[in-house]
Amino acid sequence: MSFENRRAAGIKSSPSMAIAMAAKKLATEGHDIIDLSLGEPDFEPPTHVAEAAVDAIRKGGIRYGAPAGMENLRQAIVKKLRTENRLDYSADEVMVANGAKQILFDVFLATLEPGDEVIIPTPCWVSYGDIVSLHGGEPVYLNCGADAGFKLSSEQLEAAITPKTRWLMLNSPSNPTGAIYSADEFHKLAEVLARHPRVLVVSDEIYEHVLLSDTPFISFGEACPQLRDRTLIVNGVSKAYAMTGWRLGYAAGPRALMSALNKMQSQSVSCVSPVAQAAALAALTGDQAFVGEGARIFAGRAKIVAGRLAEIEGIDFIAPDGAFYAFIGVGRLIGRRTADGEILGDDTAFAAHLLQTFGLSSVPGAAFGAPDFIRLSIAASDRELETACDRLAAMVASLT
Ligand code: PLP
Repeated sequence: MSFENRRAAGIKSSPSMAIAMAAKKLATEGHDIIDLSLGEPDFEPPTHVAEAAVDAIRKGGIRYGAPAGMENLRQAIVKKLRTENRLDYSADEVMVANGAKQILFDVFLATLEPGDEVIIPTPCWVSYGDIVSLHGGEPVYLNCGADAGFKLSSEQLEAAITPKTRWLMLNSPSNPTGAIYSADEFHKLAEVLARHPRVLVVSDEIYEHVLLSDTPFISFGEACPQLRDRTLIVNGVSKAYAMTGWRLGYAAGPRALMSALNKMQSQSVSCVSPVAQAAALAALTGDQAFVGEGARIFAGRAKIVAGRLAEIEGIDFIAPDGAFYAFIGVGRLIGRRTADGEILGDDTAFAAHLLQTFGLSSVPGAAFGAPDFIRLSIAASDRELETACDRLAAMVASLT
């Protein structure tokens, strides 16, 4: 018997989570597995983060709080947005949630009418489309290929907007491609949006600080201030401060929108744990050296991986500008035969063979709306990354 309603049945569990669990199972059974499926920093947050959380617990008074988050944390976010992104928001235009992911739940729950369309450029993060569907919306995927730098063009956007379009989802730096939009590229999209006043913009900036090249990051809000009253900036501490498990994301947007999102929070989670909020406050207001150091480490790893992947014949690879993934084109290898005689029919079969026979866990591109690719996280030690590249090279060499 199925317990799921139509909406729940229509979506899948997070594919990257499912693959990570499969890799863990193989590892516990004694297989030698390198798991590069999940996107999380492989180091601990700065020590003052844990200390702030412990202090908060010791002090007591861990009670329900405001759905939007603690005033001092929201003030710290206001300051962060002003100093780092030149964005001017007041504390009541800012909120915190249990991860950036929950912000997306809040926003689509609060704003989508059944059948409203959400434009999602692909390749995109695995969860966007399913979160939209879960809330009765229609994801409209727009394929942005490698030749376009994996970025949405103004022509594509213009052609996709219909009277039902409600949101445009942007993500720069992008998971999985690492693409970063320039101010000019954002301006071109904004020119289109200016003609369509009903369309709102989510700008997911969670990888803001994970910069791997000289390409600078710019917030959509900074590039397009004229769209401030219909832009939601989404960010969080998961990636920049290695705090994925603390579950703390935040958003900034026009007051009426934030008030709608807070209503969702008040009737769902009530508030974010004050312990996590104390930790996030310490992260945002403490010494920021950690953030730059993290980016330097990832940039070094990206270089190692780029060098090694360039030596593998048959794959296609564009070095990422941001985030911590290698998005690898394997389309030219689809249809080839493994040593066991199995024909690799698609990227999912490719990733399965890479895991089962060569002990390297990746996420197939189909999960990101981009078949013919696999994604490897580079959030692993230099040695693991070298071994991972050895294994990928060995697999590719074994195909006939
Ligand atoms: N947005 C993107 C593009 C992500 O890759 C992720 C996590 O992988 C998230 C949002 C979710 O972040 P959080 O941990 O804050 O929920």
